[in-house]
Amino acid sequence: MAEPTFRYHPDPLASGSALRTDHVCSVCGLDRQIRYQGPVYGRQPDSLCLHCIQSGAASLALSISGGGDGDSDMSAMFSDAVDVPDDVPLSVVEEITRRTPGFAGWQQETWLYHCGDGAAFLGPAGYRELEAYPEALVMLRADHRRYGWSPTDTEEFLRGLDRTGEPTAYLFRCLHCNTSLASWDIG
Ligand SMILES: [Zn+2]
Ligand SMILES: [Zn+2]
Repeated sequence: MAEPTFRYHPDPLASGSALRTDHVCSVCGLDRQIRYQGPVYGRQPDSLCLHCIQSGAASLALSISGGGDGDSDMSAMFSDAVDVPDDVPLSVVEEITRRTPGFAGWQQETWLYHCGDGAAFLGPAGYRELEAYPEALVMLRADHRRYGWSPTDTEEFLRGLDRTGEPTAYLFRCLHCNTSLASWDIG
């Protein structure tokens, strides 16, 4: 059976948010081949498939109150969106937080937005991976300048970024203008 695809998280296997392994999903009860590995902000399932994330079944079934009324009780695969630009529709934020595989960071993770839409999450990245995305490095440098970091400290920090260690950068791509974007753990 075809695995679900996600607009805002095109390859959860590559990003490390999902693992190819036979399992029985706790939400739908079906034998599935790809298991979600990311965070759930709600009741913790033993095992969760991507189909249930895509359909919204997971968000509903894992809500703290057990589903039903109260939108705010819905569980999320991604923590409540912060710093969402005003031009991004609420429906996009809902899709990203409730019906898209999330990802775990060392600190509070942030989803990135661009051109009035959510950006596609590509995966964690270290300096070596980021070198292939110069625009993302420019963005990180600008972020650091805003926080008052010196250029020397910034370069040292960027070169210390590690895909599997700490700190890590998180790589995104705008779905409209194709710009590469990155967020990072504030260690
Ligand atoms: Zn399922
Ligand atoms: Zn854009």
